[in-house]
Amino acid sequence: MRDEHGTFVKLFGTCTDIDDQKRIEEALRHSQERARKLMDSNIIGILVAEGDDIVEANDAFLHMTGYTREDLHKRRMNRFTMTPPEDVPLTEQALQELAAHQQVMPFEVACICKDGSRLSILIGVVELQRDPPQHIAFVLDNSARKELEQRKDDFIGMASHELRTPLTSLKLQTQLLKRKFEKQGSHDSAAALEKMEAQVNTLTELVAAFLDVSKIQAGGLEYAQETVDLSKLLHDLAEVMQQTSPTHTIHVDGAAHALLIGDKNRLGQVFTNLVSNAIKYSPGADAVDIDVTLSDETVTVSVRDYGIGIPREHKGKIFDRFYRAHDPSTKAFPGLGMGLYISSEIVERHGGTITVDTEVGKGSTLQVALPLKRDTTRSPSRL
Ligand code: ADP
Repeated sequence: MRDEHGTFVKLFGTCTDIDDQKRIEEALRHSQERARKLMDSNIIGILVAEGDDIVEANDAFLHMTGYTREDLHKRRMNRFTMTPPEDVPLTEQALQELAAHQQVMPFEVACICKDGSRLSILIGVVELQRDPPQHIAFVLDNSARKELEQRKDDFIGMASHELRTPLTSLKLQTQLLKRKFEKQGSHDSAAALEKMEAQVNTLTELVAAFLDVSKIQAGGLEYAQETVDLSKLLHDLAEVMQQTSPTHTIHVDGAAHALLIGDKNRLGQVFTNLVSNAIKYSPGADAVDIDVTLSDETVTVSVRDYGIGIPREHKGKIFDRFYRAHDPSTKAFPGLGMGLYISSEIVERHGGTITVDTEVGKGSTLQVALPLKRDTTRSPSRL
């Protein structure tokens, strides 16, 4: 306030404690700096997307994909240009997961770089805001790991090829020698060679399984297309397996005939695997029950055992490559985790499904459902 001469006489002021506000601003600045440090680091690719477009990306991500900042600003980086067609379903599934849970755990996917090459990445996503939809993704270059995996697959393929030839000749020589000893009346030697042949057969089966796994990895097995009576196949198979498995009674029940189009040998391989697993994983039991049921379009085969069962946490993974649900170090149940992986591939390629119902200590039922042959006058469809 001034007096009539214009001189200040009073002054009112306010004093507000803004210490908290300053601290908050400081903390915010620190956190922004930290976020920027992460963004600017060359360790991990980071991108921010709005809807389908990438609107912000750090140098690491641009470097990985070969795009420039100009590409980014001109919105040339988006889901449609950067996702290979075969990975579209996976990406869509991830977006659904993002909408449902506001985040997606890291998953492997390929991304198309600016020069058209494909880069294997590991990506995890977190939702930033819903409207307009914005999310941030953390991206790691996964190509070194993929390459290593590929090399391992190639190695398995080559090693099984290399092992197959000497094994075939070993088997032939063993059979020849066995016959020779039999003719000479040397029964002890013939019996020893018979045992040797059984071991060679086990090895041959193992090598064949490795070969199958590597063929599946490289694009799939080849399948014959023939009319198969699945019920007959199961009866024949049970009879043969019964001869070498005296501990368990293998019982086949249900439909007398079930015709479908498929590869008889490969389907035989599936059920041989399921029955031998049923026997192997039920050392305390004495029966394996196979049941065949028909519906209008499907035949369902259940292979039931009364054995050790599978712990719940492993149930979903037993069809994965090299996965074993029981501690491999115990050596109680030999195996390499290939059988169910190969079986599920064969069943899927026949248009069917394979599932498991199991309880620890009570046993397991592996169930295979396959489409029946529809019209006998029609030519078979491709597998
Ligand atoms: P493996 O050669 O190890 O038997 P598989 O691929 O046939 O390989 O099976 C994968 C895993 O699933 C096995 O290691 C075992 O832990 C589990 N498994 C499969 N079948 C059965 C079964 N009938 N009962 C209990 N566990 C089973």
